Amino acid sequence: MITINPKKPGLKNIIILATGGTIAGTGEEGKTTNYQAGNLDIDTLVSSVSNIDKIANIYGEQIANVDSNDITIDHWLTLANKINELSKQDDIDGFVITHGTDTLEETAYFLDLTVKTNKPVVITGAMRPSTATSADGPLNLYQSVALAASELSIGHGCMVVFSDGIYSGRNVQKVNTFKTNAFNSIEFGCLGYMRDNVPYFFNKSIKPHTVDSQFDISGLNKLPVVSIAYFNIDADPLILDYLAERSEGVVIAGAGSGTFSSNWLNEIKNLEEKGIPVVRSSRIGSGIILRDETMDRYINCIPSYTLSPPKARILLSLALTKTKDFSEIGKIFSEY
Ligand code: ASP
Repeated sequence: MITINPKKPGLKNIIILATGGTIAGTGEEGKTTNYQAGNLDIDTLVSSVSNIDKIANIYGEQIANVDSNDITIDHWLTLANKINELSKQDDIDGFVITHGTDTLEETAYFLDLTVKTNKPVVITGAMRPSTATSADGPLNLYQSVALAASELSIGHGCMVVFSDGIYSGRNVQKVNTFKTNAFNSIEFGCLGYMRDNVPYFFNKSIKPHTVDSQFDISGLNKLPVVSIAYFNIDADPLILDYLAERSEGVVIAGAGSGTFSSNWLNEIKNLEEKGIPVVRSSRIGSGIILRDETMDRYINCIPSYTLSPPKARILLSLALTKTKDFSEIGKIFSEY
């Protein structure tokens, strides 16, 4: 419960949940490299954004202050449970999460599948630390708050705002290691654009999310462990064995259309015989993986369709909270 005491009646009440990342990073004045992510607290972050108090009443909470490579499933459960709890308050209108960009798409997809509200949930970050010349964090945060406060955002699931673009949590990917326009949904396109504080929507994901998602994380304090095995020429099939010993499911980041060598195929067969579901995805980053009679003749891999390996890992982990049956898991992948 957060006590809402609107400073400006008529403005929407938006909760910012801060987790760290470059947006809260500091380093040498003017420079974009060699900085420390997750250094500024939420109040300092918000006060660096001019005019943000004109578009919404902001209530900030620090969930963590870490580089997003150190985000864990515990952080995910905290975020999802908090949003699920706070969204029951009539006087809270939307949520913004600040996050490092390296793993932002994973958190976005997890929340897209586990948050149980139609109220807007927006994730953003920055490619340049707050101390850089032309830091991109303030505009991304400003636009995220504006998006979370907009009636147009209701029912879009968890969205990402970055560099004037609005993306769905399901389809967004980081596509550049250092440029400020670092996110895209490749062939699915963006949901829309932000111009200053005004959203313009053109698309909607038809995949189940938030209130239509079947996954319920309330009461869970951990999730089934799923690991990703990356295939390349000559990749040792024993990697699969190693991962299988530590996991309830394995996702393959295969070559091309989710392919791998014949010795991986034999090892995957062993995994499946032990009851470990294996999802076939691709390291390519666009396109679709389907069941393939040549690849899947001797094995029973579940195709990832259009999910990237880290997103397939999230869906397989959530699917395993419901069922261990390969064909039921396959149905979940075809639907989501
Ligand atoms: N390593 C940083 C992080 O993900 C990168 C960033 O935020 O842009 O936290």
